[in-house]
Amino acid sequence: MSKILVVEDEELTRRNLARFLGGRGFSVTAVESGEEALQLVRSAAPDLIVLDITLPGKDGLTVCREIREQGLTTPVLFLTAKDQEIDKLTGFGVGADDYLTKPASLLELEARIRVALRRTSGDEQAGPVETYKWDDVRVDFTTHEVFVRGELVELSAKELDLLRFLIQNRGKVVSRQQLLKHVWGYTDDVTSRTIDTHVLNLRRKLADVEGECTVIQTVRGAGYRFTG
Ligand code: CA
Repeated sequence: MSKILVVEDEELTRRNLARFLGGRGFSVTAVESGEEALQLVRSAAPDLIVLDITLPGKDGLTVCREIREQGLTTPVLFLTAKDQEIDKLTGFGVGADDYLTKPASLLELEARIRVALRRTSGDEQAGPVETYKWDDVRVDFTTHEVFVRGELVELSAKELDLLRFLIQNRGKVVSRQQLLKHVWGYTDDVTSRTIDTHVLNLRRKLADVEGECTVIQTVRGAGYRFTG
């Protein structure tokens, strides 16, 4: 069952959307503010977000931009009230996947949601991650730069590839076999010990002030999991 996060401050619209989408076989979480949406986007891991633009506090455009800055590629379908907002969507490159002008037809909304979900399903890695942030760490894969507490940290090309693969599969357990295939490509003479050494180095370089790197977890007998 696909999970939809609905972000809409107008109560009646929010309730109608939640009821309708729930009745169409989606698992729906509905919230009234951008702040709540940002909190939920990681923990609830929705498959798609229906995002109203005009919200009190952080507006929909800001919310979408912040979601993208976190490296999340969750499809976002905007609800817009006026043409002016559509200009912003197309002009500012906020990472919107689609939009509907309010009052939106519910059947049209459902159709757009299904199209967006089809586009992303079967694409496990959901496009390349370009930048990613957690706690005090910021990674820019386009410039190959990693900053920990504002300080540039040197990562080898392999460590960077390894980090990228873990981030692209965040929340999931990645086996050493997968790492061998996707990061090392079976080309080098590597053993699981090589992988463990790289993970160890990566953890050391990305460690927090306590000298720990809890975002890269070892899952006994299975592999590793990135949870940042
Ligand atoms: Ca609104």
